[in-house]
Amino acid sequence: MDLHDPHAELRAAQDKVHRLRADFPILNRPLTYGGKARTLVYLDNANTTQKPQIVLDTLMGYYQNSNANVARAIHSLGEESTRIFEGARDRVKTFLNAAHREEIIFTKGTTEAINLVALTFCDGLSAGDEILLTEMEHHANLVPWQMAAARYGLTLKFIPFDDNGVLQIEKLPELWTDRIRLVAVTAMSNVLGTINPLAEIIAFAHARNVPVLVDGAQAVPHQKIDVQELDCDFLAFSSHKMCGPTGFGVLYGKKDLLEKLPPYQGGGNMIRSVWLETFDTNVIPYKFEAGTPHMEGAAGLAAAIDYLETVGLDWIHRYEQLLLAYTMEKLVLVPGVTVYGNAPGKGGIISFLVNGIHAHDLSEYLDRKGVAVRAGHHCAHPLARRLGVVSTARASFYFYNTIEDADAFVEAVREAVDKL
Ligand code: PMP
Repeated sequence: MDLHDPHAELRAAQDKVHRLRADFPILNRPLTYGGKARTLVYLDNANTTQKPQIVLDTLMGYYQNSNANVARAIHSLGEESTRIFEGARDRVKTFLNAAHREEIIFTKGTTEAINLVALTFCDGLSAGDEILLTEMEHHANLVPWQMAAARYGLTLKFIPFDDNGVLQIEKLPELWTDRIRLVAVTAMSNVLGTINPLAEIIAFAHARNVPVLVDGAQAVPHQKIDVQELDCDFLAFSSHKMCGPTGFGVLYGKKDLLEKLPPYQGGGNMIRSVWLETFDTNVIPYKFEAGTPHMEGAAGLAAAIDYLETVGLDWIHRYEQLLLAYTMEKLVLVPGVTVYGNAPGKGGIISFLVNGIHAHDLSEYLDRKGVAVRAGHHCAHPLARRLGVVSTARASFYFYNTIEDADAFVEAVREAVDKL
C-alpha cells in the first residue's frame, strides 16, 4: 500500500470487490447502446440492488425442492417449507440482534412495514395527538402518517434539515410537545445520503416515554444495525435493497409494543379461532401476517443476509465511504455540478444536477454510456421542494461498485456537460 496515496485503502480493496462481482451474474451481462458494446455500471443501488448467485439459487431451490404452504399442511413438504420460513425469521433475529424471534414480522417491504405501524399504532391515539417526522422522509415514511392523521385527527410535525442536509436535532426541544406519541425517522436519507443521529433522537424521545420508528431501508443494507444497542422501538427495511428478493421485507418491533397493537389485515394465519361474527387474534408475529406469505422471499432474504455477513457489514460501510470520497473528489471538478447533501459521514449516495441540464436528460445520456443512475424526485417531493429543485440525478453505490465504475460515472457526467 502506498501511504502517500490518499486512496490507497480503496485501491487495496479492489481485488476483493472484483472477486465479489463475480457472484453477481447481471453485473457481467453484455449491454449494447447504438450498436456499441458497453459494460454495465450499475449506480442505482438505493433503488434496488443486484442479487448474487447464491440468492438466485436459493429462490430456484425453494421451488424445485421445498415448495408447500407454510403453517398449514401436515405433510413433510409443508413442514420443510415452514422450517425454511421460520428459519429465516431466526436468521433475521440474529442479524438484527433482536431479543425475541416474535419481534420479526415479515412484510412485503419497508412501505408495508410502516403502513402496518401507522394504521395499528395510530388506532390507539386521540384527536390532537402528534407524530414527529423529519423533512427528509421518503413518501413511504410520510404518506402513511398523513393518512393516519386524516383518519384519527392527528397533527404531523417535522424536524427540518440545514443546507448541507444535516438534520437539525438541536430544534427537538422547541418542536417537542407533550402530545407527541411517536417519532418516525429515516436512518439514512435516500436523496441526501445523510445518516441521522438515531441514538440521540431515540434517547431524547425515550426520556419522554415516546417510542421511535426507524426507516432502515437505506441503512440496514449498508451498515451493522443492532436493534438492542440502538434501542429503537420499530425498524422497517426491504429485502430487495440488500441483495435479497423483491416483494419482501421486515418490520422489527419490541415485543411489548407489538402485543398491544391491534391486528393489521384480516385473513388466514392471523387468527386463533373464528366464529361467524367474530375472531380471536393470533399471537405475534402471526397476528400481523395474514394470508399465505412470500415463502421464497424469506428463504432468499436469509441467503442474502448470510452473504452480506460473509462480505462484512462493517467492511461494506467503510468501503462505500471510501468510494464516495474518491468519486466526490473527481465529480466536484466537473464544471457546473451541484451536489445536494453534504452531511459529514454521509452514506454512498450522490444527488446532483449540472447547470441547465434536466436530470432526465443527464441520466439518459449516462445510460447511453452504460451508466445507470436514477433521475427524479426519488419519492421525496417535500425534500425536493425544500432543496428548490424538481428533480435530481442520483448515483448510489453498493459494495460491488469499483473505482472503474466511479471513473466511468464522472467521465460520463463530464461528457454530458460538453455535449448537452
Ligand atoms: N424509505 C426509504 C428511505 C427508501 O429509500 C425507500 C425505497 N426507495 C423506501 C422507504 C421504500 O421501500 P420499498 O419501496 O422497498 O417499500
